Amino acid sequence: MAKIPHRIILTEEQMPKQWYNLRADMKEQPDPMLNPATLKPIRTEELYPIFCEELAKQETDCTTHYFDIPEPVLDLYMTYRPSPLCRAYHLEKYLDTPAHIYYKFEGSNTSGSHKLNSAVAQAYYAKQQGLTSLTTETGAGQWGTALAEACAHFGLGLDVFMVKGSYNQKPYRKSVMQTFGANVIASPSDTTRVGRAILEMDPETTGSLGCAISEAIEKATTTPGCRYVLGSVLNQVLLHQSIIGLESKVAMELIGEYPDIVVGCAGGGSNLGGLIAPFMQDKLLGKANPHFIAVEPASCPSLTRGRYAYDFCDTGKVTPLARMYTLGSGFIPAPNHAGGLRYHGMSPVLSKLYHDGYLDEARSVEQTKVFEDAVLFSRLETVLPAPESAHAIHGAIQEAIRCREAGEKKTILFGLTGTGYFDMTAYTSYLEHTMTDYIPTDEDLQPGFDSLPQI
Ligand SMILES: *Cc1c(COP(=O)(O)O)cnc(C)c1O
Repeated sequence: MAKIPHRIILTEEQMPKQWYNLRADMKEQPDPMLNPATLKPIRTEELYPIFCEELAKQETDCTTHYFDIPEPVLDLYMTYRPSPLCRAYHLEKYLDTPAHIYYKFEGSNTSGSHKLNSAVAQAYYAKQQGLTSLTTETGAGQWGTALAEACAHFGLGLDVFMVKGSYNQKPYRKSVMQTFGANVIASPSDTTRVGRAILEMDPETTGSLGCAISEAIEKATTTPGCRYVLGSVLNQVLLHQSIIGLESKVAMELIGEYPDIVVGCAGGGSNLGGLIAPFMQDKLLGKANPHFIAVEPASCPSLTRGRYAYDFCDTGKVTPLARMYTLGSGFIPAPNHAGGLRYHGMSPVLSKLYHDGYLDEARSVEQTKVFEDAVLFSRLETVLPAPESAHAIHGAIQEAIRCREAGEKKTILFGLTGTGYFDMTAYTSYLEHTMTDYIPTDEDLQPGFDSLPQI
């Protein structure tokens, strides 16, 4: 048989033209979002003040299997998709493993991550509805950058509330977003009521993702023609990200492969949910039984140490309640944490799949181990991974080593979600041995759990 090429790239004809909605094949649905005021399940119309209508419908639709990708979205996808499926030959050789290691590389667009897949969709639907601007939050900056690109393309205004710590640490991220025309505000800011309240309590705070979300939502709900958009966690985002898994599946079919093990990093769960979607469908329908592994930081361990409970999606407690694995909306990782994936909760879809045993495994890992494998991978495969993505690399390497020890010729697929060019402060601290690990104690986690709404 001919050698499988390093990079498999689909033609435009081979590209999927629909997104896949995993919920439609789940035997039991995730628990519904609740209105925090009434504690009743949210009706789609109740979401219209926050999300644009088409996205609100996608959010609550548990029965439609496939959604056509609108033509203008496909058009923009074609400028950077399909993304390559790569065979990590050099890594395999280095590890001396019989396993085949593949990675789906989402970092070859300007935003540097998979987040553009949902940003394009969300900006398109907003424009369709006649909205004039969007707001969002960004932590590390990838989501804000992706959305800035999408808004520039469709001619929408954009306010990005950027977690203050990142705003100060990553000035070039801010410049990229400004280049695409976005207005970037350090969060917490004095431009919103919730921001001012948080600043009053703690003027020195470096901010958090949850706090930035609250500010962005307040801005959206008080500005005419404006809506809030979120880059992870939500059902609609998982739907859009299914393009990652759908492309991977077609590409693997072309070379006669099917993954035995699928590994992804988990922040809010969007890339993992998107990557595993069509393979999880096979598992749900009894057609195949791949082993799914989520990898998260030891300093923000929502799946491995969180509670499966209803919680707010933001610190300001203004979003609907979602049942998910959560550390509590007040949770903020230790300040030395540099590896991303710092969100307190997890996609309700993935949470349900994990709870019911379909998402087989979650692992947490210390950041120095993550960076060790990030550096190894960059030298072997000539890709500088985002620290987030390096969690998946770490998980894949562990599996490849296990295959070597067990003499198993498994096929491993992992999601390489993005590049790390804006994370060089973190790389530097790893290379200079000043990076430290901190695993929260049960006492550290308790206040977050205490803040969970009593339902
Ligand atoms: C945002 C981000 C993640 C984590 O988000 P998920 O929603 O869990 O996918 C992972 N990798 C990169 C590069 C990101 O930008």
